[in-house]
Amino acid sequence: MTGMKKRAYYPGSFDPFTNGHLDILLQGMAIADEIVIAIGVHSSKMGLFTFDERKALIEELLPQALRARVSVESFNNLVVDAAKAAQCTLLLRGLRDGTDLDYEMQMAGMNGAMSDEVQTVFLPSSPESRPITATLVRQIAGMGGDVSPFVPQSVVDAIAKKFN
Ligand code: ADP
Repeated sequence: MTGMKKRAYYPGSFDPFTNGHLDILLQGMAIADEIVIAIGVHSSKMGLFTFDERKALIEELLPQALRARVSVESFNNLVVDAAKAAQCTLLLRGLRDGTDLDYEMQMAGMNGAMSDEVQTVFLPSSPESRPITATLVRQIAGMGGDVSPFVPQSVVDAIAKKFN
């Protein structure tokens, strides 16, 4: 195994990418050599931003030093299958609270039963990003609220454009 890069799959909706997502990504960089941010796309579910918009927003806010180690792609199949296809052996998930834990434990258990080649790793959110959810960011933005405490500035700008 020496010399082999540890690749982690980081799946989610990222609609839009928040400070909470960035927190988990940065923590993940400490345990993985490379991270694939995987945006789930479901034809039935129309988001606020398109896949291309989400990908561009993420790529643009990545610190320069991380760009070579992070890629962004889409998936619409089983997470474990998508992770394997992307040659990832780790599956990153962030935990905010007990509700996340209960749900994530079920998913980790079932994913583990489907594949023993992909290991789920839970990362705890930092105190500042604990309350942040992309769903609330979308709702607040939709009602004209200020989302700047919760998302990077480039996302604030993209949201302002979207609602104008
Ligand atoms: P999903 O719909 O699969 O939860 P999200 O885009 O909402 O997709 O989240 C992707 C990942 O980021 C999940 O592992 C989620 O737990 C994590 N995450 C989202 N917001 C936060 C946050 N504020 N702190 C820590 N982890 C978070």
